[in-house]
Amino acid sequence: MRYATRCVQFDSAPGDPAAPSSTPIYQTATFRQESALQFGDYDYSRSGNPTRAVLEDQLARLEHASRAFAFTSGMAAISAVSRLVRSGDEILIGDDLYGGTHRLLAELGSQSGVAVRAVDTTDPVAVDSAITKRTRLVFLETPTNPLQRVTDLVALSEVMHERGVLLAVDNTLLSPYLQNPLLLGADIVIHSATKHLSGHGDVTAGCIAVNDAELAERLAWVQNSEGAALGPFDSWLLLRGLKTLALRLERQQTNATRIARYLSEHPLIDRVHYAGLAEHPGSEIIRRTTRGGGCVISFETGSLEFSRRMAESVQLFGLAVSFGSVNSTISLPCFSYMTKNTNTKS
Ligand SMILES: *Cc1c(COP(=O)(O)O)cnc(C)c1O
Repeated sequence: MRYATRCVQFDSAPGDPAAPSSTPIYQTATFRQESALQFGDYDYSRSGNPTRAVLEDQLARLEHASRAFAFTSGMAAISAVSRLVRSGDEILIGDDLYGGTHRLLAELGSQSGVAVRAVDTTDPVAVDSAITKRTRLVFLETPTNPLQRVTDLVALSEVMHERGVLLAVDNTLLSPYLQNPLLLGADIVIHSATKHLSGHGDVTAGCIAVNDAELAERLAWVQNSEGAALGPFDSWLLLRGLKTLALRLERQQTNATRIARYLSEHPLIDRVHYAGLAEHPGSEIIRRTTRGGGCVISFETGSLEFSRRMAESVQLFGLAVSFGSVNSTISLPCFSYMTKNTNTKS
């Protein structure tokens, strides 16, 4: 089945006798028991809800995973992954990470006795030599945002498996349509579903996908015990967004490539960071392991004032953080990063 077909062909309401063609929103906290001693498939929505179950099955299919878990945000999903390590263990993190992830994991390092160290994950040899006997997990993004540095997941996962260390990849920037880290050897995939998976800028959500039954059990335990599972209505919104994932990303990527080329030839632009350009240092890896460089572009003008005026004078791009969705957005990430690392805001 082609990917775009996979996005729309799934059982929308397994076991529902009314056979609805769109998944119903099971907006309920509890489910009646068959008897005082017997439970059905569902009992309490934190533990499981039919709308979320359809979403999670579909997320798993889209990432070529055996199981997926939906959370209230990307950060809640990343927090759940961080629960896989214990005091005394070590996490190696990529040295160019989403600001919120850096904030969370750095704090984890100072509070919980988990050591957290940054490493250049684009270099498998550097990662190999950074691993110690305490290292349990390597956490990275590829391409990174905003610098779009690219890691060869095939090469890196070989190193990880040899050393018995889990590889977790935040795949938010490319989405499961463009890149499937589990097929490239990663153990855990994370998404901020707020971005491309939703695609309409109307929900915050997160997701984890895995292929290993034991990892899935541990994550199911965290999701149920900590209570950050996605609610039924948000699950439904996300499920609706997923149906057009392939179509949206295909068109957004075509548009982004044209804009990136235009900017890279423009005399007032110093540098364009877009992994989809042929001259990008990671372009060979992108060509070999993905369906393209995605639809997020960053660029440098060499002047803060010029960048500010540009961001404030474009007409079709909304001045907002996060990624574009069905509408485009523009922002100055150096400022949002400064806020992210010091305040409690985004
Ligand atoms: C937005 C984002 C996150 C955080 O996700 P939220 O849904 O905002 O909690 C994590 N990683 C990356 C790469 C992101 O872009």
